[in-house]
Order: sequence, then structure tokens, then C-alpha cells
Amino acid sequence: MEDLNSNPYHEVFTRQKANQFKIGNSTYKERIKKLDALKTALEVNYKQKIREAMYADFKKPFLETDLTEIYPVLTEIKFAKNNLKSWMKDQKVDTPLALLGASSYIVYEPKGVCLIISPWNFPINLTFGPLVSAIAAGNTVIIKPSEMTPNASKVMADIVKDLFQDDEVALFEGEVEVSENLLKLPFNHIFFTGSPQVGKIVMKAASKHLTSVTLELGGKSPTIIDDSANLEKAVEKLIFGKFTNAGQTCIAPDYVLLQDTLEEKFKSLFKEKIKTFYTDNAEASESYCRIVNAKHFERLTGYIEEAKHNTSTIVSGGASNSSDHFIEPTLVFDAPEDSKLMQDEIFGPILPVKTFTSLQEPVDYINSKEKPLALYIYSKSSKNIDFIISNTRAGSGCVNHNLLQFLNHNLPFGGSNNSGIGKSHGFFGFEAFSNKRAMMKQHTMGATDLLTPPYTNFKQKLID
Ligand code: NAD
Repeated sequence: MEDLNSNPYHEVFTRQKANQFKIGNSTYKERIKKLDALKTALEVNYKQKIREAMYADFKKPFLETDLTEIYPVLTEIKFAKNNLKSWMKDQKVDTPLALLGASSYIVYEPKGVCLIISPWNFPINLTFGPLVSAIAAGNTVIIKPSEMTPNASKVMADIVKDLFQDDEVALFEGEVEVSENLLKLPFNHIFFTGSPQVGKIVMKAASKHLTSVTLELGGKSPTIIDDSANLEKAVEKLIFGKFTNAGQTCIAPDYVLLQDTLEEKFKSLFKEKIKTFYTDNAEASESYCRIVNAKHFERLTGYIEEAKHNTSTIVSGGASNSSDHFIEPTLVFDAPEDSKLMQDEIFGPILPVKTFTSLQEPVDYINSKEKPLALYIYSKSSKNIDFIISNTRAGSGCVNHNLLQFLNHNLPFGGSNNSGIGKSHGFFGFEAFSNKRAMMKQHTMGATDLLTPPYTNFKQKLID
């Protein structure tokens, strides 16, 4: 057994462990007070600092930061505040007749000391979103944000320090080694958001202590557009979904499967709408952000270079500027199946499109790959929509739009198998950070009292 005393985070972990019952037994009002403090920090005290940090990290426009980083956490807080009283209540369940004399209920008890590891692409949203659920459920929390967005991580560290003692919530900035050391500790739950590759490392580390995990992962999320769709609206929404955050969104449409009769119209609409959204010089647009770092910039420009030298056609875009990691919104047709564009999760502003003739083709194609995090459908045919939904598997989806499923806290958010394990948001987030303790209370003498040894013939007859 490894000596955890030398682990740099063991001391805080131990203090959180000692504090877990105090935090876990906090009242509804006490938890609301904490959520309110976080709300004020995001909405007032740190709002401008968050915007500036996101701009410094990858030139994210202020309005996009408000919409995609701050707003989703505020709605998560509002939803939790409106529902927490009922979530915290013991949940009565029926008791079968054979157990007469007893009553049964489920206690949502806090898991205890939890670890949140978050990614860089929506750092505020994907760190504080799960934190809201963890606080609502009465846990202590250690947070490790991504090293790739250091400005965002610094503001979050300041907020956490401002609002919490570190025996309740602590945040550790730093490189991958920080995660590696944290993952050695016997947490009661790990909530990880990131890539499937690192998700496997997290799950392996968690298995050592049989720590439960929520894994919010990624992958290639397809969009199907059939010939009944309102193509103009579909292209507008697709561009919004794909190029917000410059495509660095886990549920962004990764690639399009397009009915072949729509090809020419799709190409011209795409060029027209890109200009409407970002002018004909996206680099100068105040509405378009950058790639997070040189490593990802080189990966993505590598895809474009590959497309220039294989059977692909770059229909629109393709330009880039390494000085600030700009990549133009890019549309690619006919990328070969073995190209990186069709194999890797793109996570950037490049949209490959494949055409199909009959609806069975996109369904078979999607089913030949890992289950996606999201699947989007543009169609007016309910028969086609039903056919696609019932013959594919995915974590979530939208019909005639994309991304918006993330914003409804009545819906569980998460993937399936390679795209994730477990769900978050609203009650599902509260549930992820709670243990459902099964309780039974015996009130009077019950039927089962008749079945204790000695096992006589009379007792045998009772159960026959
Ligand atoms: P990542 O997996 O590289 O990193 C995520 C976090 O894990 C970071 O905090 C990082 O420090 C840590 N980490 C990296 N390597 C590690 C290792 N070897 N051991 C322990 N910890 C390690 O992911 P990323 O690049 O930050 O984010 C992009 C990925 O995240 C994409 O696959 C995307 O689809 C996915 N994602 C999923 C969701 C979702 O909600 N399902 C949301 C956003 C991003």
C-alpha cells in the first residue's frame, strides 16, 4: 500500500474527510447560502474578471463568455435553489405486503469527499457547474481545473478562496501531475470532464479505491440532415453549434451526414451564412475566438494540410494564422474515411460533410463508431426522426437545433460508454454526488417475524 502521507494533497484531503459530516449535515438554508455566494461571485464580483480571463486564454468574446460560461452555472444554481428542498427530503417508497409492518424510504446522503477534474474548453461552466451539484448534495470538494486555461483557473482559485475554507472546498492549479497525485487519494466520488483517453486513466485510478465516478467525455457527435429539412435554418444552427468556441465544444456537431440532393444548396448556404455570422474576414470578427494553444492549433492545421493532399475538397475556409492560433471556419467535403478528420474528435472549426442516398446509410455509419455524446437531426419527417432515434444510440441530442439540450436542467447530461458514464445537471447532478441509502423501518410485528428459526412445517406451509 502506497504511503499517502507524502502525497502533497493528503493533508487537505484528511481535513476535508474530518469535516465531511459537518458539511454533510448542513441544512437546506445553509446550502442555499453557499449557492447564493457563488451566484453573487459569478454575477457581480468576478464577472468582469472571468470575461477578461477567458479573453486572455483564447480570445473568447465577452458575450460568448456570459452565455456559455456564466449563464449555465447561474441557471444550474437557480434550478438547484428551486428544487433542493424536495431533493434533500427522504423519498418514501412502497413496501410489499410480505413485509407488512415496515415502511421504506431512500436517504440522499452526501458521498463525502469528492474530486472534480475539469477541462479547458468551458473552464468556468464545467468546473462550477458540477461544484453546484456537489455543494447542493452536501459534499466537501477538491477541484483540479485545466492547466491549459491558466487565467480562468486563477480566477476560479480566487473565487474558491474567497468563498470557502479549504476544509470544505479547495482548488489546486497546475499541470497533469497535480491530477495524478490527487487520483491516488481515496475519494468518495470523482467527477471528471475531459477526453475518453484520460477518462480511462481516471477510472483505472478510481478502481484502486472503488471510488465511484462520473465521466463526462467526448467523441465525434454526428449531425444528420435529410431532404425534408428546412436547409437554411439547419445551416444557420449548424454554424452556431460548430463555430461557437471555435468548435472546441464537447457536444459540437463534429461532422455532417447530408442527403446527397442537398449538396450544392448546402455549400452555397454555408458560405452565405458564415459571412453573415463572421463577415468575410472571420479573423477580424469580434465574435470568433481562437484555438486554445499551439499544440491544438498544429493538430487542427494538420487536418487541413491532410485535406489538401487527399481526395477531400475544401469548399470554404482553410486559412490560419499561427501568431494567435486563428483558424478560419472551414468546410470540407469527401474526406476519406481513414483521414484524421473522420477518425479523431475534431474539437475545432473544421466541418467535414459526407453525403448519403438512403437513411439507412447514416444510421449504419454512426453505429459503426463509438456511441456519440450527442446526435443531431434536421428533418421535418417524424418517420425519419423516429427511425434515426430508435436505430442509433447517443448520450443526448436535439432535433432541428444543436447544443441547447445542455441548457435544460430537467434533462440528464452525459454520454454513454465511450462518451461517458453517469449524468449531470439538475437532479441528476445532485444524484451523482449522493449515495442513495436504502432504509427500512419496522414499526410493529411484521409477517417476516413468523419466519424465524426453528423452521417448522407450519412455517413452511405459510410460504408455500
Ligand atoms: P483532457 O482529458 O486532456 O483533460 C481534462 C483534465 O484532465 C484536465 O484538468 C487535465 O489536467 C487532466 N489530465 C490530463 N491528462 C491527465 C492524466 N494523464 N492524468 C490525470 N489527469 C489528466 O481533456 P481536455 O483537452 O481538457 O478537454 C477536451 C476533451 O474533453 C474532449 O474530448 C471533449 O469532448 C471533452 N469534454 C467533454 C465534456 C462533457 O461534458 N462530456 C465537456 C467538455 C469537454
